[in-house]
Amino acid sequence: MTDIAPGLLLKIMAYFKQLIADDTELTRIAQAIDGGEATHAETQIFSRIIGGHASAALQKYITAEGLPDGRLYYNIADRIIRAVLDDAREKVNGTASQVQTALYKAAGIGLKPVVPVPNKWRVDDLISKAANAEKFEDVSWTLDAPVKNITQSYADDFIRQNVEFQAAAGLQPTVTRTAAADCCPWCAGLVGQYDAADAYEYGIYRRHERCKCLVTATVKKGNTWGLQNVWTKRWVDPAEAAKIEARKTIGLEQ
Ligand SMILES: [Zn+2]
Repeated sequence: MTDIAPGLLLKIMAYFKQLIADDTELTRIAQAIDGGEATHAETQIFSRIIGGHASAALQKYITAEGLPDGRLYYNIADRIIRAVLDDAREKVNGTASQVQTALYKAAGIGLKPVVPVPNKWRVDDLISKAANAEKFEDVSWTLDAPVKNITQSYADDFIRQNVEFQAAAGLQPTVTRTAAADCCPWCAGLVGQYDAADAYEYGIYRRHERCKCLVTATVKKGNTWGLQNVWTKRWVDPAEAAKIEARKTIGLEQ
């Protein structure tokens, strides 16, 4: 039996690329970034659009008729869905990093964006569900809302991990959640502005499927930024302090 996965993946990636190239809202976001006007609202909208295109590309080419025995075997699901979501994650992180760099520059902060640790479990779980049925048509929904939701989580992860890094570096990040007009009471209850610790504690980075609410973050220099160490009479380098803090927490989560 011929291996259909490589050919299928090529078609999906080509269509994904074309959808992105043809999207005028993505062009607007790229222009806002170039003009230095973008915020993490653009990061959020970007991730939602990319998730939509990733989902559309997967659904166009992964069909019951095109699959051996009408089933999405694990080895096919694993190679295709993972590759598309990895690509989507890189795109979201790329845009988010550009936005973060511009925000730092505007605030006069000499830090670099943190590339978030990916949550591998989420993707593994999706692939298992997609491959977990004799008939693909029974699990085709996995390529719709869950793919979009995971792609949005890349933006949420980026913002969360950078906010936590900033707080550890003595900066004052503010996380703001706004609700989409047509969203639900749970989301309405999360609307507001939070500091880094509260944002995590109140679950501000969480979202249900089809949620269009925006989680954004801004940052300014805080009281402990450039804090003098009284014992050594040396000024602590905030970037170095943040690195030490990041090393302490890496691997604890996810
Ligand atoms: Zn919502």
